[in-house]
Amino acid sequence: MALIPLEQALEHYASVRPLPVHRVPLDIALGSVLAESPRSRLSLPRFTQSGMDGYAVRAADGTGPRTLIGTSAAGSPTDVRVGEGQAVRILTGGMLPDGADAVARQEIVERDGHGIVLREAVRVGEAIRREGEELKQGDVLAEAGQRVTAGLVAVLAMAGVDEIDVRRRPRVSVLITGDEVLRVGHPLGPGQIYDANGPLLRAWFVEQGYGEPVIGYVRDDERELEEAMSAALDSADLVITSGGVSVGDRDYVPLVADRLGVRRTFWKVAQKPGKPLWYGVRDDGKALLGMPGNPGAVLVCLAIHARAVLGRLEGETSSQPAWRHGVLTTNVEADAERDRLLRMRLDLGDGTARLTLLPKQESHMLSNLASAHVLAWLPSRSEPFAAGERVAWIPI
Ligand code: AMP
Ligand code: MG
Repeated sequence: MALIPLEQALEHYASVRPLPVHRVPLDIALGSVLAESPRSRLSLPRFTQSGMDGYAVRAADGTGPRTLIGTSAAGSPTDVRVGEGQAVRILTGGMLPDGADAVARQEIVERDGHGIVLREAVRVGEAIRREGEELKQGDVLAEAGQRVTAGLVAVLAMAGVDEIDVRRRPRVSVLITGDEVLRVGHPLGPGQIYDANGPLLRAWFVEQGYGEPVIGYVRDDERELEEAMSAALDSADLVITSGGVSVGDRDYVPLVADRLGVRRTFWKVAQKPGKPLWYGVRDDGKALLGMPGNPGAVLVCLAIHARAVLGRLEGETSSQPAWRHGVLTTNVEADAERDRLLRMRLDLGDGTARLTLLPKQESHMLSNLASAHVLAWLPSRSEPFAAGERVAWIPI
């Protein structure tokens, strides 16, 4: 079967059906993608207030003596009106009393009981935050399609938005296949290896803000896989399998997926590592990414492919990773048939992103993940990449 180019694989994810929109309280919106462009329910600042601790005055009174007639603290406004020769003690965030048009910050004021004198005159509007100077009621705070960050949560809360329309977060189910695979912490028998992919997948989803995926372990057994995959497809929006997707005698993922009505979109991508990647969608929109068992390949499939599918499920309109650019510090071999996705060290010291190839890049090797910062994308071509050449990368 012919390999499909990486770019073409990414284009296929455009057909992923976005998950339904639901309205959630702001408290649980972090990390979701907005399905509306929320507007401010208030003006911000909500009322004209002091930006400093000091005295609310009339600028026109210059440096003449003034009598204190009240106090306006944050949350405790006063209803007195500041007349000629009068002042109100005011604290940061306190509502500006009627009649006042400036705040004399405490540092320029001499106080004696109920009398104050300004050491310097103040301008109209000095040390004052005007109602609506930042936002008017109805102003758009963020755009649909944006992901909710901690900063946006703060903006929405202060603007009075307590509920918001977002895409439902994707539910992910992971199936780790392989008779040889054992969870760390148990003694290894002959021919057994510790599972790297379960921990990798789990940590990656948590790190990306999706929470814990459901993870199941299945033997290289057709019936067992069918049962587990069927249950996973019913409960999750995206099913990810690890292993069993190549052409070995015990590689049952493509066969079983097909039998369960997951229509294959592609199998085998011109990428290194991660060539055996299988992708398909069931009629009800459930997506399946069949990843190879080699952990180096799983990392690429997650960072490039799973990220794109998840983004589409959440209503993103591009499948492209957020590529950045940097220069290679050494010559790097190219692959004539497949795009290489290489684990590299990133150095930003002098403002230029410098990418240094790490050793041990084979797909079954993963020890360099302990020090890799990025995945660099070196498109397939016959001539090697030269030191100083510009390439795209994403953080991992
Ligand atoms: P497979 O894709 O099932 O043919 O597996 C390819 C290679 O990856 C084999 O050497 C497997 O032993 C290894 N492998 C499969 N699953 C895992 C796993 N969960 N953790 C680490 N290595 C694995
Ligand atoms: Mg296997």
